Amino acid sequence: TEHRRVDIDRIARSAFGGVQDVADEHGVALDYVTEGDDFAAEGDPLRLEQAISNLLRNGVQAAARGMVRLTLDATPTTVSVRVADTGPGIPAEQAAHVFEPFFTTKKVGEGTGLGLSVARGVADEHGARITVSRDAALGGACFLLELPRASRRH
Ligand code: ADP
Ligand code: MG
Repeated sequence: TEHRRVDIDRIARSAFGGVQDVADEHGVALDYVTEGDDFAAEGDPLRLEQAISNLLRNGVQAAARGMVRLTLDATPTTVSVRVADTGPGIPAEQAAHVFEPFFTTKKVGEGTGLGLSVARGVADEHGARITVSRDAALGGACFLLELPRASRRH
């Protein structure tokens, strides 16, 4: 896949817009927070949007009538995308398996179990890390995608 300089803010906003309708259907509020202002990374914008979109969709499905929050964060070496929700979270014994292809706890027709394995594949392609934990503020799941920051342009 093609890797070029990308603005993660722009990509994440596009993914965010793409789940607005399904969030409305589920009565889920969406919140977008940025901490910092330079979110340049390197990668394939369509693949990155797919990964972020998969995280947002899961959050919306988990957080019926609650909220999903996407937070962008930048450090000198990383750009991170955090997707957290007010859903039930992921039991510890399942957390190790959620990134495996075809792992799903959803009913037939509601989930294929591929969303997170795709997200992990995208992370791997970008030298990024993807991890899951419980969100301290919202109480549900929190997925963190940490991408290497783009090298400074000369
Ligand atoms: P699918 O959504 O088709 O089930 P995924 O790979 O996207 O497949 O997710 C795998 C499983 O991980 C889900 O079935 C669910 O059990 C768990 N999961 C993923 N995201 C969340 C979330 N935000 N809250 C609770 N559980 C989640
Ligand atoms: Mg999914």
